[in-house]
Amino acid sequence: MIRVLGATSLIAGLIAAGMMIPGAAQAQQKFVTIGTGGVTGVYYAAGGAICRLLNKDRKAHGIRCSVESTGGSAFNINTIKAGELDFGLAQSDVHFNALKGEGPFKSGGAYGDLRSVFSVHPEPFTVVARKEANIGKFEDFKGKRFNVGNPGSGTRQSLEELIGALGWKLSDFSLASELKADEHGPALCDNKIDGFFYGVGHPSANIQDPTTSCGAKLVSLTGPAVDKLVKDHSYYAKVTIPAGMYANNPNPTETYGVLATMVTSAKTPDDVVYALVKAVFENFDEFKKLHPAFANLDPKNMVKDGLSAPMHPGAAKYYKERGWL
Ligand code: GLU
Repeated sequence: MIRVLGATSLIAGLIAAGMMIPGAAQAQQKFVTIGTGGVTGVYYAAGGAICRLLNKDRKAHGIRCSVESTGGSAFNINTIKAGELDFGLAQSDVHFNALKGEGPFKSGGAYGDLRSVFSVHPEPFTVVARKEANIGKFEDFKGKRFNVGNPGSGTRQSLEELIGALGWKLSDFSLASELKADEHGPALCDNKIDGFFYGVGHPSANIQDPTTSCGAKLVSLTGPAVDKLVKDHSYYAKVTIPAGMYANNPNPTETYGVLATMVTSAKTPDDVVYALVKAVFENFDEFKKLHPAFANLDPKNMVKDGLSAPMHPGAAKYYKERGWL
């Protein structure tokens, strides 16, 4: 929902107050909000970076951008659909399922008005174990206390798909907690859970905290069930979290994951989406510096990889001008 403060009511108010500001007739301010994730994740930083670049040019386009910390991917898409967010970040698997009305979105039906804006950083599924829990592989979590993520997160949907592929149920954990991403690290270090699963860009403060403060260990996600998931779904790819990315984790971690994508509704005006993508790609070097997870981004891939929903026309217009589409 784009909120527009019309000049008419402003002028009426000013006249009533016996004041007049020159040029007030052109004054029109549009507010857009980007739904992100927990404040220790990368979505929140990505949304902040995008808003910062968009707001720099506010005088030209009249748009004021702000970010909201949310429960994550599924919440963002559902809230865009409800008309209460303009943009949101979402994992490419959640994006795909929402568009087609598959998986957890079956009951709500296909969301045909979902539109792509661009994709951002890779999000490897990251399993972290308490140092003392003696976990060598994901299967060792059977019968242990595991955080499966809050409903509304992409993390939770992807975890459930993994559990299904392994032939497990949530009841195979002695505790399947639903803590939000900002809470799972502290819970791990406080010995309230033995592990958690999180789809997130790297490096992330969220993973830095428990690996540094209580020596938490990254756990690989490999094996036949993962092989089959990656083979069956185009939105999944195998990926390695590099050795030494986090303290106390000197070895590489083999896993699989998705891409983060920026989405909106077909109802978002073309000029707003155009202004947003222009702000990002015209200031791309600055954007990449705003978070280390963006360091390897390449615009030519960002306009196609991981995007199942049709490109929003406002974004397509800018990409065509740049020769990327
Ligand atoms: N991919 C996560 C989710 O939707 C959010 C990651 C982040 O906030 O950086 O659950």
